[in-house]
Amino acid sequence: MSMNLVTLLYLIASVCFIQALKGLSHPTTSIRGNVFGMTGMTIAVLTTAALIAKLAGSPLGLSWVLVGLLVGGSAGAIMAQRVEMTKMPELVAFMHSMIGLAAVFIAVAAVAEPGALLHGLAKGDPIPAGNRLELFLGAAIGAITFSGSVIAFGKLSGKSKFRLFQGTPVQFGGQHLLNLVLGLATVGLGLAFMATESWGAFFGMLALAFVLGVLIIIPIGGADMPVVVSMLNSYSGWAAAGIGFSLNNSMLIIAGSLVGSSGAILSYIMCKAMNRSFINVILGGFGGDATTVSASGQVQRAVKSGSADDAAFILGNAETVVIVPGYGLAVARAQHAVKELAEKLTEKGITVKYAIHPVAGRMPGHMNVLLAEAEVPYDQVFEMEDINGEFGQTDVAIILGANDVVNPAALQKGSPIYGMPILEAYKAKTVIVNKRSMAAGYAGLDNELFYLDKTMMVFGDAKKVVEEMVKAVE
Ligand code: NDP
Repeated sequence: MSMNLVTLLYLIASVCFIQALKGLSHPTTSIRGNVFGMTGMTIAVLTTAALIAKLAGSPLGLSWVLVGLLVGGSAGAIMAQRVEMTKMPELVAFMHSMIGLAAVFIAVAAVAEPGALLHGLAKGDPIPAGNRLELFLGAAIGAITFSGSVIAFGKLSGKSKFRLFQGTPVQFGGQHLLNLVLGLATVGLGLAFMATESWGAFFGMLALAFVLGVLIIIPIGGADMPVVVSMLNSYSGWAAAGIGFSLNNSMLIIAGSLVGSSGAILSYIMCKAMNRSFINVILGGFGGDATTVSASGQVQRAVKSGSADDAAFILGNAETVVIVPGYGLAVARAQHAVKELAEKLTEKGITVKYAIHPVAGRMPGHMNVLLAEAEVPYDQVFEMEDINGEFGQTDVAIILGANDVVNPAALQKGSPIYGMPILEAYKAKTVIVNKRSMAAGYAGLDNELFYLDKTMMVFGDAKKVVEEMVKAVE
């Protein structure tokens, strides 16, 4: 395989990746985007495998590549098939950790055998200064991404009893100063490696970067995890791009830069959706405020509750209904039942719309994916800024498994989620809320919306309750 052909195939793969990102920006074009992404990745992986086999120049070299492809490809396919939609952020965090670790391994290999891995070097040649910088940056960012993603994985899955992996922030005095000192020491050792090419400085820098990844993520908790995952996504891209420069691999540079910049843009969009600055997210320790309510719901106050039949009666008498889906809807897999309910109401001449909050659920676009899976017509689905102005004229807002994204606490100064834009469901004439109990949402906060006179709680699993509503509406 000639280098010209490799460059051409990498160029085609890069165009596919750009088309994939473009396609994934809207539900109507997302399938096309995925097809582009898969095509680009197949071209990139096969081209790289053929290139490595050629450079290795022996059947043993090729067999290592094939074993890697087989093991990695099978593990990825099995995990993607088994993962539940609600567990997707954990899978993404896991993938980021693997990208970070891969960057570290490649950097270590390149420092050990520069002649074999770095472009234009013969055996025994010293590593040029430019390459040393790339290896330092790629390895340091890779190490931070790895350990940070492992902590994010633990926090998102919420299963570990180990304090560092729990959702609540871990904070202590002088934490930011310690991070600053460690950050400066990492840079110092990286510069020492650049000056001396010493293994001691390189491994010292790596060790500090691993620790820094842990320390940066542990003080972040609760509702800021989506931003963290997206930020780590960005880091993993920059680590890959850094290593791409060292290996003189244009595909890694382009794909890494696309991941790095799209992750950074997504982090910015999410911060905007929460009305917070990036620095505030990183340094905020959000989610550990003393005023939060535990998931077991310690606050005992009276609420108005009704049955699915009562809710169906109210819905059947409305002219306009807005459905607000949230994380609980995804847990209950109630999207098909919700679509059926909306169809029954529409048949009765009622106008039904869906309102999507940008951080509803547990990953960006979670609710869009869920509704698309049930084939809800796109023209009924509205983003927050497009629907918020309509709640005031809406007869019934029905909130299914959502909590934080409709919490008016976001309007109160002093609240941990103050300033986060919310779906203004509280403005509807009547509010129906379905959830299983009075437990708090992801941010651990009580929700005043549930106690309003115009609110009726319908307790139970979303799927069961919505199916009962469908029967009652019929
Ligand atoms: P929340 O997590 O705030 O609330 C979900 C509600 O669903 C809970 O109060 C729960 O109450 C209820 N619920 C759970 N299971 C069921 C079920 N089977 N049937 C009915 N109800 C159920 O969800 P939101 O979507 O409102 O908000 C998302 C939150 O997650 C935000 O704070 C966001 O920042 C955060 N987040 C978002 C991510 C993203 O990228 N979108 C990623 C990670 C976090 P009960 O237990 O009483 O049933």
